[in-house]
Amino acid sequence: ETLYVELGERTYPIVIGDGVMQQVAALVQDAGISPTSRLFVISDENVSPRYLQPLKQALETAGYRVADCVIPPGEQSKSLAVYEQVLTRAIEAGLDRKSAILALGGGVVGDLAGFVAATYMRGIAFVQVPTTLLAHDSSVGGKVGINHPLGKNLIGAFHQPRLVLYDTAALRTLPEREVAAGFAEVIKHGLIADASFVDWLEEHAASLWQLDAERVGRAIRRGCAIKAAIVSADETEQGQRALLNLGHTFGHAFEALCEYAVLNHGEAISIGMCLAAKVAERIGFAEAGVYARTKRLLHLFHLPTDWPDGLEPEAVLDVMKRDKKAVGGKLALVLPRAIGKVELVKDVDEQEILTAMKKEA
Ligand code: ADP
Ligand code: ZN
Repeated sequence: ETLYVELGERTYPIVIGDGVMQQVAALVQDAGISPTSRLFVISDENVSPRYLQPLKQALETAGYRVADCVIPPGEQSKSLAVYEQVLTRAIEAGLDRKSAILALGGGVVGDLAGFVAATYMRGIAFVQVPTTLLAHDSSVGGKVGINHPLGKNLIGAFHQPRLVLYDTAALRTLPEREVAAGFAEVIKHGLIADASFVDWLEEHAASLWQLDAERVGRAIRRGCAIKAAIVSADETEQGQRALLNLGHTFGHAFEALCEYAVLNHGEAISIGMCLAAKVAERIGFAEAGVYARTKRLLHLFHLPTDWPDGLEPEAVLDVMKRDKKAVGGKLALVLPRAIGKVELVKDVDEQEILTAMKKEA
């Protein structure tokens, strides 16, 4: 199953399916990367023992020369220090302008490898081989980058992949918590733009949670398609694209205040989406029942919706006001009108937000 994402003048395929990694060589070649090119695979220590050798072998059999670089897992690897180490390896491996970088791993590997590809010799070809569900979100939109000690994702670029190769078989080795986190962004895409997709997620929650290949493939495809439609309507991030921040203003504040330890990204935005629905209902913006249904849906995918322990609502609100999307200190929040429909609401009453955070979550 292939979805074609059209952004700017370039179109690239997202190939999704069980076992598609075996077709990597033909697909890379179809993406315009010839077997005379050197390839450089970036992966992490959890993913590489399982998937790196078969991937390399498939490519080498087709004549590609492949080098690799394995980084430690986790957000800490999205750093200037690791970026420099990877670049050093890339230069030592003799990569040139015709070379391509492959990201084999989750969002961390994708963001870092994409930034290496965007900046190595002013930009070389990039191929994503995501191994997490969450990575479906970063495979559309072209945002790549690393963190600075003073803030997340402060150093980055836009660099579209030539190909995204999504082997759903690789998802089966994911820890359960990562599976849940990945579904948070899938659910988000439904809540933003597609009520019938939400119906479908509710109906098939059990088999999706068991990572049924056909259904998970469909969920990834739908999530990517929704995101692609929003991003291509708004490549400069002025209007529509802001809607993708549903749950994220709250979520980023939780992540920052928990120092990225207690909650992962998917968990933080799960709680955030729930709060957004609660605020929306409180101020009469959303129709009744949106909050309850949002919460139930997140629970079906084993996601948390309760207020994180030890956090003060006032502290969360302060961080939210410093969010890079806040304009002039005024809080703009993406709130649901209904299931499958959200809007950016400027000037949400701070008192309402505080009250929503204070009552039972
Ligand atoms: P994401 O932002 O996509 O959740 P990460 O890159 O932080 O991304 O991945 C989450 C964690 O799961 C990391 O510890 C990573 O090493 C691990 N991981 C990624 N893919 C797999 C997989 N297919 N099987 C097992 N562990 C994986
Ligand atoms: Zn997100």
